[in-house]
Amino acid sequence: LSLSRLIVVSNREPYEHRLVKNHLIWERTSGGLISALDPVMRRLGGTWIAWGSGKADRNVVDQDMIVEVPPDAPTYHLRRVWLDPTEIKGGYQGYANQVLWPLCHLTLDRVAYRKAYWHAYQAMNARFAAAVLGELRGKSGFVWVHDFHLALVPGLVKAALPAQPVAVFWHTPWPGPDAFRILPERRELLESLLASDLLMFQTHNFLHCFVECAKEFLGVDVRSDDLQIDYNGHTTRLVARPISVSFQAWSERARTTQVTRAMDVLRNLHVFQPEVRIGLGVDRLDYTKGLLKRFWAIDAFFEQYPQYRGRFTFVQVAVPTRGDVEAYRSYRELIRETVNDINMRYGSISNSGSPQASRWRPIEFREGRIGVDTLAAYYRMADLALVSSVYDGMNLVAKEYVASQVDEKGVLLVSHMAGAAEELTDALVINPYDLEGVADAIRQAIEMPLEERRERMHRMRTYLETHDIRAWSDECLRDAGILPPDDRPTH
Ligand code: UDP
Repeated sequence: LSLSRLIVVSNREPYEHRLVKNHLIWERTSGGLISALDPVMRRLGGTWIAWGSGKADRNVVDQDMIVEVPPDAPTYHLRRVWLDPTEIKGGYQGYANQVLWPLCHLTLDRVAYRKAYWHAYQAMNARFAAAVLGELRGKSGFVWVHDFHLALVPGLVKAALPAQPVAVFWHTPWPGPDAFRILPERRELLESLLASDLLMFQTHNFLHCFVECAKEFLGVDVRSDDLQIDYNGHTTRLVARPISVSFQAWSERARTTQVTRAMDVLRNLHVFQPEVRIGLGVDRLDYTKGLLKRFWAIDAFFEQYPQYRGRFTFVQVAVPTRGDVEAYRSYRELIRETVNDINMRYGSISNSGSPQASRWRPIEFREGRIGVDTLAAYYRMADLALVSSVYDGMNLVAKEYVASQVDEKGVLLVSHMAGAAEELTDALVINPYDLEGVADAIRQAIEMPLEERRERMHRMRTYLETHDIRAWSDECLRDAGILPPDDRPTH
């Protein structure tokens, strides 16, 4: 195959347009999928098909619903799909965010199933599939579908164009049969995914869980190595390809004067004293990130190790997400209350009695999206970063922290339930449910000798330098036959 035009399909769009005081503005949207795929598209060009969710998105598209992006230096096409209110409420907020998301993350209590959601999800997927077929009219291309919002797209595209190559990257975990069993439409989902030619997961564990589901619910025969499934006369290849970050971009950014200046701004903003150690969390306000347990663990840390009151501050960057879903609003409230409660209990305790020390708060809670330089500044200055997801496909924050740690002084603490833990073996691996264990790991990180911190961070940086987003996309494109198998990544 020659280099085929890439057609990426995802629910979330990489760039959003809005009107602010009659001025058209655009913004790159957040989230792991966007951070990972935007660089790939910038490099290779092609078309990205996604839901036009910005208020002024319709103002800038041409008659084919296409806008060139990034708006300041266009390198690829963004083709926008418009969803109607039923599809948004039932398909996106309902079936995707309140059924598949909690199901895939094994937070089964949060699954809020309704039959109407399924119908809306079907309609939403049909809308995306139609856009894909529109994009392919008269032109060839390689279709690469992303994530749990669009599980039915491969089946729909293949039904219309059986010879059209389609790959899927599943960004979230895949549950085992015991959990997947609760989904009434389990067969439909599995059948659609098995209509694709190539099915990619973050880890071997998720791949294995998918194979177990296909065996149990479709009775498929699996070849002994788990890497191909024959079903309905069609063969699907399965691979595990852990997604990554742009190591070079984060490393270089962390060294820029904008970022060192941003570090000074943050020290002033949070009134960090030089002797205070800084912990960092960066997460969407999502229950899968284990934020409540994280704050309970921080509470336990200050309880168990009172010598660190006034000497350790945890900065939590909390990115708003899915505010239209009640479960997210109540989770956000609970998080705010928990942070306030902890800050009230410890905040007034001062060890030295100095005016600065009395300003100390155990948790600096910063709600809202932040700019990339500010984020890099937090990453570079944090003595430790804590990722405590209860289940997570990968967790790019863990990798971005490592990539930004150019001084190699920080310690990464990562949940054994996050895909990132499989690769970042020099992190302190934690169990988010074991609060005392997490508290102990925080202490271990703070007290770890500089030499050990440097060695661990250096090894993780060396690993990420070669296992970066470029290597990930090259590998996926080789799997897809778009790049020849022997084409090694060039940096
Ligand atoms: N992020 C962002 N804006 C912010 C804070 C974070 O875009 O204000 C990015 C961050 O750089 C990372 C992504 O959001 O790339 C989060 O990805 P992750 O895999 O950790 O979790 P997800 O949100 O995809 O579940």
